[in-house]
Amino acid sequence: MKKIIIIIISILLLLLVVSCTKDEKLTTEPDIVAFYSVSYADSTLTWKTDLSSRSIIQYSTDSGFLNHTAYSIDAETTNHSIKFLDLTSSTTYYYRIKHRREDTISYSNVWKFNSGTVTPSTDLLKIVYIDVKNGDSELIITPSGENIIIDGGYGSYGYDTWNGGGQTLTLNYLNSEGITHIHYMILTHPHADHIGGLADILNAGGGNTFTVDNIYDNMISHTSNAYIDFLSGVSDHTEANYIFPALGSTISLSGGDFVMKLIHSKDNMSSSETGHYLNDCSLTYHLVYKNFTAIFSGDAETVAIDKMIQYYPNDLRSTVYKVGHHGSYNGTTRAFLSKLKAVACYIPCGANNPYGHPHDQALTQLADYHIDIYRADENGTVKLITDGVNTFTMIREK
Ligand SMILES: [Zn+2]
Repeated sequence: MKKIIIIIISILLLLLVVSCTKDEKLTTEPDIVAFYSVSYADSTLTWKTDLSSRSIIQYSTDSGFLNHTAYSIDAETTNHSIKFLDLTSSTTYYYRIKHRREDTISYSNVWKFNSGTVTPSTDLLKIVYIDVKNGDSELIITPSGENIIIDGGYGSYGYDTWNGGGQTLTLNYLNSEGITHIHYMILTHPHADHIGGLADILNAGGGNTFTVDNIYDNMISHTSNAYIDFLSGVSDHTEANYIFPALGSTISLSGGDFVMKLIHSKDNMSSSETGHYLNDCSLTYHLVYKNFTAIFSGDAETVAIDKMIQYYPNDLRSTVYKVGHHGSYNGTTRAFLSKLKAVACYIPCGANNPYGHPHDQALTQLADYHIDIYRADENGTVKLITDGVNTFTMIREK
């Protein structure tokens, strides 16, 4: 009898050990890639998949609106580990894992974790793709705290809902963040949908609201009121260094970890070339922060894009792509996307705009290259934060 009891206890212990060490397959819907061993500790979620995939976690404190998406900067893997950059201590977060493998996307169920004690992340780069309707405006805040603004949307020069209706959207955003010091202001080209909001910033408070250290212009004059007012604002800001930056020149900050390089300007263009000269002269900057990269090509079209590929074939890799020319058919090419190898993109397009932006051709190409698409008309302002090492996170307004 004693022997039988010992055997039974041994069998039970063996079963217990097996059940503790065997990975439990977690439910997915649809069940295309299996997830195992999801665990949270120290702001980091780790898990395994049976097939290699790109890591994406959608999360939020609101189980019905998972508007934060954390991506791994690294390539596809089966052993996933993503650090959350913006958690608050002792808070319940809901999340689901989105798995992308080639053309297939699948989601886990929604689970939750408690953040526990969170040590705030440091040395973060922030990029805000400001919703200025069918215009461009990006705010970059470097890890060392400098503010760089690229374009400003129509601002007060808009006149309809698709272009902002005269709202000073970029100025409002800077005010809401308490920003009064612009270290670098970059005008890609002088069309109103890019320059209007910059004129608003320069002229705010009679030219006294903002201190501006550097203004980079592509130096092609324009007859529009927005450009005239922009130049008036420039002349008021005598503290600013107003220049046409040289091709290949860089903005190097954060101890050299953050570098923005000018990879295209009118110096690469001849006015006799086909296409839209003004758009094709857009100042184009490529950003590098450790392992993270991004590109801002203004409204550069195919002629300009081909030159970037020709002159900087190895400098174009971009984790996140500000889609060129508002998602027009002529702002993106397959050859360009094959160089960018982007994970996500933002299309600055206004609802019901008369240009039909974004065009189906661009959307198809972005989808074919498996790039997650964020759009101004559907997602509003999108904030990006990254440690430059492991993770970048996109936070949708809607
Ligand atoms: Zn534009």
